[in-house]
Amino acid sequence: MRQSEILFKTQKTYPKDEVAVNAQLLIKANFVNKLMAGVYSFLPLGFRVRSKIISIIREEMNSLGASEILMPSLHPKSAWEKSGRWEGLSKIMYQFQDHSGRDVGLGVTHEEIVALIAQGIIDSYADLPKYVYQIQAKFRDEPRAKSGILRGREFTMKDMYSFHTDEKSLDDFYEETKKAYQRVFERCGLKSYITEASGGDFSKNYSHEFMVETEAGEDETYLCRLCGFARNKEIADFRKDENCPKCGSGVLEKVKTVEVGNIFKLGTKYSEAADLNFKNNEGHLKPVVMGSYGIGVERLMGTAVEVHNDKNGIIWPEEIAPFKVHLLSVGEDKEDLQKFAEAVYNEFEKSGLEVLFDDRKKMSAGEKFYDADLVGLPFRVVVSEKMLVQDKIEVKKRSEKESRVLKVKDFIKEISK
Ligand code: ATP
Ligand code: MG
Repeated sequence: MRQSEILFKTQKTYPKDEVAVNAQLLIKANFVNKLMAGVYSFLPLGFRVRSKIISIIREEMNSLGASEILMPSLHPKSAWEKSGRWEGLSKIMYQFQDHSGRDVGLGVTHEEIVALIAQGIIDSYADLPKYVYQIQAKFRDEPRAKSGILRGREFTMKDMYSFHTDEKSLDDFYEETKKAYQRVFERCGLKSYITEASGGDFSKNYSHEFMVETEAGEDETYLCRLCGFARNKEIADFRKDENCPKCGSGVLEKVKTVEVGNIFKLGTKYSEAADLNFKNNEGHLKPVVMGSYGIGVERLMGTAVEVHNDKNGIIWPEEIAPFKVHLLSVGEDKEDLQKFAEAVYNEFEKSGLEVLFDDRKKMSAGEKFYDADLVGLPFRVVVSEKMLVQDKIEVKKRSEKESRVLKVKDFIKEISK
């Protein structure tokens, strides 16, 4: 893609009204645009990162045998009454009346809605288990929206719901989901820790949180760096262990973390509220056993920025970078140099490389280098007069200091491996 053709311009300064590093960098580098606290637009580069994260999540959820659906954001009060959450979540849910006086709300999550859908479809044990997920906008009236895209008032969640005949079936799927979640976070360049958590709003039952260590996090977690054991603050404060209960040799260290995902064994709370029953093999009617599983898409993107940056800008993990290569044509806008840069660009495109071509005219080398560091693509490739005479390109990894001079062909071969 040609940089001159997309809606793109880096800002000269960091935004004054943002304290979070992710928001400062993403706004300055023109990935997102802030409309109001907790509400952001995704510009061409930011949209690509978000799409890549969504693709990774989709692949991993599909690998669990789950199928993708899409539920609405606008819900009638009646759907939320039986579970008691119209009242219970009234502080965080946007609730209002439409012009005809109907009570409606914007979805903060979808247990109630998905249970109503399943109620019309699931009749017998032969219909179970089933797993569905969606990647959809959630609205939450978050009291503190100061963490940039880590805590939006409107944000995208991948929420998955599972339906089972019994606890054993739920347990099996829950464990598979844990592994899939860890694959998602790893592919996004993040090391995650699983903590056992108290059920919060959703259940008194059983739940786990996936935590990533960063100063930007609003949660506190006790970690054992030796074996990777993690425990959330509430439970750690209650148990008061100093040594790791898992490996025995490490100590538990308190660190700041951000919760990128959360999984719950719901039991029958929402199925009972929605009359979601099935006939077991003896013909008895039983409530369906449910699980729910969330990942915050933009929170994941913001966390990657919090973890991977330096004083010059973002350093995108390869799999979620908006493009793999940033091709910079630097020097005076001479015709032979332009031709050379175009040829390199075409060769990259032909080989299927995802490349952002900084073909902007009347811009100094310094300005282009500055922007490239800020934007943070994994590879920077420079085409200049010096390279033109050698018929080569200068390649530098964003995460490294040294650059190398290579033949175009050799670089393509190397990077396509
Ligand atoms: P938190 O404690 O951080 O508010 P939560 O417990 O309310 O999170 P869930 O309701 O379990 O979160 O939502 C599932 C996932 O959605 C979270 O693990 C997180 O990744 C993401 N998420 C939750 N709230 C937000 C938000 N306001 N902005 C962006 N992502 C969010
Ligand atoms: Mg919350």
